[in-house]
Amino acid sequence: MKIFKSTKHRYIILGIILILFLLAGCSLTIETQAGPPISEESFLKVHFIDVGQGDATLIQQINQDNTYNMLIDAGNNGDGEYLVEYLKDQGVETLDYIIGTHPHSDHIGGLDDVIKGFQVGAIIMPKVMANTRTFEEVMEAVSDKGLSITSPVPGTSYPLGEAEFTILAPNSDDYASLNDYSIANRLVFGSNSFIFTGDAEALSEEEILNNFNKRDLASDVFKLAHHGSSTSNTEDFLEAINPSYGIISCGQDNSYGHPHREIMAQLKARNILVFRTDLHGTIVINSDGKDISIETELDTGVNLGSQEVVISGLDKIAEMVTIKNNGEEDVDLGGWRLISVRGNQEFIFPKHILKAGSSVTVGGYDSRDKVDFIWELGGGVWSNSQSDPAELYDEKGNLISVFED
Ligand SMILES: [Zn+2]
Repeated sequence: MKIFKSTKHRYIILGIILILFLLAGCSLTIETQAGPPISEESFLKVHFIDVGQGDATLIQQINQDNTYNMLIDAGNNGDGEYLVEYLKDQGVETLDYIIGTHPHSDHIGGLDDVIKGFQVGAIIMPKVMANTRTFEEVMEAVSDKGLSITSPVPGTSYPLGEAEFTILAPNSDDYASLNDYSIANRLVFGSNSFIFTGDAEALSEEEILNNFNKRDLASDVFKLAHHGSSTSNTEDFLEAINPSYGIISCGQDNSYGHPHREIMAQLKARNILVFRTDLHGTIVINSDGKDISIETELDTGVNLGSQEVVISGLDKIAEMVTIKNNGEEDVDLGGWRLISVRGNQEFIFPKHILKAGSSVTVGGYDSRDKVDFIWELGGGVWSNSQSDPAELYDEKGNLISVFED
């Protein structure tokens, strides 16, 4: 079964929801309120930029007449220069909006460089200060540019070209945690929608649920709160958003253990397809207002099943496949099947415990000295001239991971 029609590094995920429901043996309807009408040849690009343990999201609405740009957060202090370069590479000259979700340094760290580097329309930040040099630097950059800060008012909508975003939070003036001051917003483009909540915690999520209708929250894409922390992303909130895709921005082997395993388990149970900057690098979502496609910087398989096991590498020349367990529990691969899709060749694993965090390799005869398991077939398994994706199924036949080629 081929799920993604694709070129290298590109996952076209049309119809994936249907397939996931078929796999899950159930059906669901996603109710999403459509936004303002959009013209032909108009599209939206949402870049979840890999800044390690931090957040930086560039949203571009590109139509025939103009490109409109918005940045939500700017990573850590050391990310400023890189972000300015990244934005320039995308053709950004003006940022119509900047949202600094909350004054923690992993969100506003690079904001001073960005403010200095571009023309800025509106800058939206919550009414709270932080007694840090990072915060002071941002304030200095704002005043040097003669900008004023717009305070977020829940329910207020702003146009971004033919897209529109609505402020969802913060809904109170006073919180114990700086995270709960995070500006949350929902962006709608045609019939596609996205929710961004910064590091808002369970308390703010509850306030959002109290203040907004479910149908004003239902969205295709949810950028998980607080780098996938279990102090946010409550079951009720996930239920209301009911996303098809979850994006997690976090650093490799970060000291917080983000994303937390309870959250990953919930996402799996809900059949939410997860992309993570620590595994996939920068993630770009394209929307034409109807369909969504996803491109990732790193050649990492996407995980679809109930286990956090992915095909993490496919070296067709060396005839070698790497499978990694990103979860925190050991997985018995006994009876699992690895498929070379073009030739429909199959490798069936004998009993093998793949320990949490570790990898296993499967290779052709020529790579027998380098791999853990040999594909017992004469000749090569993988086509070197044509597309030949890899698929991994568990012992029950559930598709666990796809590696596009
Ligand atoms: Zn954070």
